[in-house]
Amino acid sequence: MFNCWGHASASRVKYGRHVVLDQNPRLAPWFEPDGWTWCLSNPQTRSLLCDVCDELIDWAGPGKYFHIGCDEAYSHATCERCRQADPVALFADHVNHLASHLRRRGRRAIMWGDALLEQGKWPAGFSATSSAEMPTHRAVDRLSRDIVIADWHYGVTQGEVPTLAHFRRLGFETLACPWNTAANIRTLSRAAQTSGSGLLMTTWHHLAQCIPLLAWTANCAWSADQAALRLAQCQGPLLRTATAACLRRLVPAEGRFERAGWNAFEQPPEAD
Ligand SMILES: [Zn+2]
Repeated sequence: MFNCWGHASASRVKYGRHVVLDQNPRLAPWFEPDGWTWCLSNPQTRSLLCDVCDELIDWAGPGKYFHIGCDEAYSHATCERCRQADPVALFADHVNHLASHLRRRGRRAIMWGDALLEQGKWPAGFSATSSAEMPTHRAVDRLSRDIVIADWHYGVTQGEVPTLAHFRRLGFETLACPWNTAANIRTLSRAAQTSGSGLLMTTWHHLAQCIPLLAWTANCAWSADQAALRLAQCQGPLLRTATAACLRRLVPAEGRFERAGWNAFEQPPEAD
């Protein structure tokens, strides 16, 4: 996975750091003025991102998919050159170019779906970043149907997930993507099963805070009896011990105790 649109700083926004610009300020033309979003009207950006994808594919070895990110590009098309262009066409052409490049490498592109969802059209808690000022959802008709949509909604903790059916009606294959709460994971897992989607658990910010939820996610994804899944199963120490037992088999500490399990300091309270 590599963020090929928003999150171009490769650092969390709360730290104010930029992996590229704080070390190579002369590369500013590759980004929009705030550095958060790649500048899609700069042809060097497109070429660089294809090179990065190639390098990661070579490094990661065999596979069928490559996730190009493309969420939360809040400063899309804000530089002088991009402002002269059609921002929806810039976005659609960029994504299609990357998808076609990846296809030549034998991979299908996966992208986040929030920019393709209109704010206000979906219930509270749903992630939709297309707005009246920047209507990126209009790009959806131009996108290759070979792209898999990763439909993330971390604030949805009950009920249906109609965005999955929305994307599937438009001809896309879909992944339901929860994050770090038991109710969110259960809700999106059920929606994935009923809509014929896959499930992609995310582990943002601190991997360790999500580790105790790995076994719960697998349970939600693969359980034949969804009605039997109770949130209480996820709140007791048994889930942590079960997850630790799985880790012990999957990633043995090989005699180094400090590598085993996870530490309290690796699970800071998440404020945002
Ligand atoms: Zn630009």
